[in-house]
Amino acid sequence: MSIIVTKFGGSSLASGSQMEKVKNILMSDRNRHYVVPSAPGKRFDGDSKVTDLLLKLNQDIEFGGDYMSVFEEITERFVSIKEELGLDIDIEARLKDFLNELLNGAGAEYSASRGEYFNGLLLASYLGWDFIDAKDVIKFDKRGKYSEEVSLPLLRKELKKHEYAVIPGFYGSLPDGRIHTFPRGGSDISGAIVAAGCSADLYENWTDVSGFLMADPRIVKNPKSIDFVTYRELRELSYMGAQVLHEDSIFPVYNAAIPINVRNTNDPSAKWTMIVPMIEHEEDRKGITGIAGKKNFTIISIEKNGMNSELGFGRKVLSCIEKYGVSFEHMPSGIDTLCVVLQDSSIEDTLHDLVDDIHRICKPDSIEVFSNIALIATVGRGMIRQIGTAATIFGALAEAKINIRMIDQGSSEMNIIVGVGNNDFDRAIRSIYEAFIRQMDE
Ligand code: ASP
Repeated sequence: MSIIVTKFGGSSLASGSQMEKVKNILMSDRNRHYVVPSAPGKRFDGDSKVTDLLLKLNQDIEFGGDYMSVFEEITERFVSIKEELGLDIDIEARLKDFLNELLNGAGAEYSASRGEYFNGLLLASYLGWDFIDAKDVIKFDKRGKYSEEVSLPLLRKELKKHEYAVIPGFYGSLPDGRIHTFPRGGSDISGAIVAAGCSADLYENWTDVSGFLMADPRIVKNPKSIDFVTYRELRELSYMGAQVLHEDSIFPVYNAAIPINVRNTNDPSAKWTMIVPMIEHEEDRKGITGIAGKKNFTIISIEKNGMNSELGFGRKVLSCIEKYGVSFEHMPSGIDTLCVVLQDSSIEDTLHDLVDDIHRICKPDSIEVFSNIALIATVGRGMIRQIGTAATIFGALAEAKINIRMIDQGSSEMNIIVGVGNNDFDRAIRSIYEAFIRQMDE
């Protein structure tokens, strides 16, 4: 027998009919033992997420707004799910108690957490599964940092008592018992924690998309989907802004080396993406995993004759940057040159002072500053064995007449990053993507 932990996002649980789909998915594989729900999300364009309504409710209470109309809207969302599914649970009374708690100062985090809590109660009643309150098993320390040492033993003990259970996402409790939430979107983290807590064989993350795409569909038309991606590739892609699960949200399963399957609630048989610790026996793997990028970087390019033999030169440059509380993104270097890539937003007001400091302290021959740079990462675990990956990228950019301002290959040989002008960003991504697809189809 294997154990699968499932997490369903807000749009998968936004209405009674969505919950029916969730039930069918859960019942179709009895290895799916634990489910972590989000709060009801948007049912259609322009609809509200219940978490947003709950935050507004608390704000209206604290600042004297018309809180009753928001409360009614929230009540309507939960009651309509209850009625659509014909559930026998007094959700109305629980909601009224909750409003009183808020009126007595329970606060924003408590309010926000109730979206998952009430949705979890409804789902548990619909499935006939046990309900485990996340406040009893997911714990934060007194500074609000998630505590794995406290949570995992608690979860392990509790989950053993339940064959099938619902554990609401997004929140847990502080040592004094008060409710504390993860950052927005944090049900992904809760799901990963529950998966780690029962040493699951698989963590399924059900959303409204069919896995991850190789490139941003707003830039590339109908990009291919990614079937397998390693945690490290995911980290590179999410850092570069790809629409994938954020690495911060999956650290609990990462640490436990549990694979994650990203699937579509609205189309369970559609393509999916599997995120795995590593993949063996892929010697003949062709092509890349994905392309992602971000705009608005500045490159400070420093030149000094004999830089390679000057002891402490790099340290001096970096300490100038550190003085301004800025962290650098990349640092490609040559014999007599060194480039530091910084986010525009981190040096908006300090660029001139920073360059002056580098001049004064490091005494370079010249410093050039290039702004409005976009970074594009081509990521693929196969690169390390493949000949010609860099040639394909540079060939594609040359063919599209795009000037490359910077090149950086990560030491893991899993990604190649190029810097191009912000205004070449979309074209560069499209040409790199198309060049690799042509090769992979050959
Ligand atoms: N409901 C929370 C939010 O909207 C958490 C989540 O859905 O993951 O951010």
